[in-house]
Amino acid sequence: MWGGRAGALLRVWGLWPAGVLGRRPLSCNAASLAGSNPSGCWNCGSPGGPVRGDGFFCPQCRALQPPDLTRDYFSLMDCNRSFRVDTAKLQQRYQQLQRLVHPDFFSQRSQTEKDFSEKHSTLVNDAYKTLLAPLSRGLYLLKLRGVEIPEGTDYEMDRQFLMEIMEMNEKLAEAQSEAAMKEIESVVRAKQKELTDNVSRAFERDDFEKAKEILTKMRYFSNVEEKIKLKKIPV
Ligand SMILES: [Zn+2]
Repeated sequence: MWGGRAGALLRVWGLWPAGVLGRRPLSCNAASLAGSNPSGCWNCGSPGGPVRGDGFFCPQCRALQPPDLTRDYFSLMDCNRSFRVDTAKLQQRYQQLQRLVHPDFFSQRSQTEKDFSEKHSTLVNDAYKTLLAPLSRGLYLLKLRGVEIPEGTDYEMDRQFLMEIMEMNEKLAEAQSEAAMKEIESVVRAKQKELTDNVSRAFERDDFEKAKEILTKMRYFSNVEEKIKLKKIPV
């Protein structure tokens, strides 16, 4: 995932316009940063229990600790477990965490810490990407509630919706001009916006069946969006 050291940091920081860093105070509280380390520090054996500070490092020897895999993405990214997330805050948290755990900062450290930093970094990336996009965030939220949407559930979709998707795919296949593509793209975008608002309301009502239905529709439109992207790439 991180190809080349120089590029990696650029990619981490390049996502934000200059000056964004540190302008807004982080609203996360200290408790959310503190993890627990039941088995103690792998390096110095310092006893477990609630750790002081950021929870990623041993308070005694400052060695990087392994990621806590029981922690869900919302907790890791210091967000409420809700469909509505503050994306600006999410970005800040991502940046804050990568500053702590990114492999570039561990080049002079032990192999164990290098390995842990790779794991932390991958986990933080996955959490950030998952929570940033409405579709993956919604699917993840459902998964935490024990609701999964298996692939190939077409039979559960209403015929009218499937016809709509089929027509859209046909139009896309036939589209020859930039303008035709743009038109389809704007229709899909409007649909996704509408569905995102609807799924947000469904989650607010704790109506997970409705959320599942809407997210399934969003997945169809997301597939159309992928096809548009592929078609845009010049051969
Ligand atoms: Zn230690």
